[in-house]
Amino acid sequence: MNKQNSTVVVLLLALIFSSLTFADKSPTLGTVYGHSLYTDIKTYLNGDLIHGVNVDGYTAVKVKVFQGRGYDVKYDDKLRRVDIITNPNASGKIADLPPQENLAVGTVIGDIIASDILVYIDYRRIDAYNCDGNMLLMVEALSDCGFQTAYSNESRTMTIKTDKNYHNVRKGKKTDSKQSNLMFEYTGLAWSDELENALAEVDFSDFNFDIKNPKEIEHIDSLFVLANKANYFPENFVPKDLVAPTSRYAGGGDRNKLRKHAADALDSLVAAAAEAGQDIKNVSAYRSIAYQKDLFNYYANKDGIEAANRYSSKPGYSEHHTGLCADVSSPNMGFNLYKKYGKESEGIWLANNAHLYGFIIRYPEGKEKLTGYTYEPWHIRYLGVPLATYLYQSKLTYEEFLALQVGKLPREIVIE
Ligand SMILES: [Zn+2]
Repeated sequence: MNKQNSTVVVLLLALIFSSLTFADKSPTLGTVYGHSLYTDIKTYLNGDLIHGVNVDGYTAVKVKVFQGRGYDVKYDDKLRRVDIITNPNASGKIADLPPQENLAVGTVIGDIIASDILVYIDYRRIDAYNCDGNMLLMVEALSDCGFQTAYSNESRTMTIKTDKNYHNVRKGKKTDSKQSNLMFEYTGLAWSDELENALAEVDFSDFNFDIKNPKEIEHIDSLFVLANKANYFPENFVPKDLVAPTSRYAGGGDRNKLRKHAADALDSLVAAAAEAGQDIKNVSAYRSIAYQKDLFNYYANKDGIEAANRYSSKPGYSEHHTGLCADVSSPNMGFNLYKKYGKESEGIWLANNAHLYGFIIRYPEGKEKLTGYTYEPWHIRYLGVPLATYLYQSKLTYEEFLALQVGKLPREIVIE
């Protein structure tokens, strides 16, 4: 496979209507040079990533995986072309699968290809959902991403051509990224330029994932500091730039402070929430080591040390020690912290918008084994807009993100 061939990529997406009426048209899925279908669209078939990486770094969809999965594959060595043909009989089997496993490649209706192949262009997912629950690939999105599209109503065929120059742009971007290959493969979502810049100085080898051997935090002043059951602060650590946010504090004592960046961001978040009709207030932010000791001892006396350790932190291990997080609540909760907050309008607004102000929901539902804490819809952590946005889009916890960056899969970092 030479480079010239690989840069002239033609992808014909297949077209089966869910009904058998159109299945016998045996539409072509892709044009393939050599034995690989060249595309810079990231392609999944029935949930499995079916691309390989070509010698020149471009993505190649492996043709053989289509065999026996509802497709026939024909290879013409002379033309260096492979046609992947939908099998009319297989489409019956396809329909029998649960909807999320539906193998139908695509249905073109007007300007829209309905597809349950997940498609990423420039690492951006471009699917949408159809009214019947099948995925729709928005053809217009392809045009925006440097592809030429042509649609034949008669043959119900969509032809998608890549642009040579676009290929080069994309290749440059991938080479320059500090993002680990594992993270990219796992999430299908590349770092933005803003995120690359934000993380330029971060030494990812700092972070410890071994809960049996907790490690004292080294770069204590970093905005990306990780405090959890495997990473703790030196006992005398107090953040240097703690300030009180200007938005109203609704908690007890003087635990309203955050580090300057986070305090400003919290004020912006509170103001934006108010504008959206959501009354959200800070009820607990920075906690000194003395307060952490009192709090943990109180819970340990009440529920026992083991139980306390599931929802509270040992002194020095609390994220509230960073000055980069806050617990927030609302009047209808009496400014208390309840799990049902996640289902209230304020909690829903928070989950959907916190990243726009640089915060994440730090302990999401269902990720207890990875964060070490039960679900806390009220606990938000400042990480800056680029990283918070990446975590929001990729649905990774901060622990998963850091692990993937140093080549560990989430299942290897159980912290509980
Ligand atoms: Zn908290």
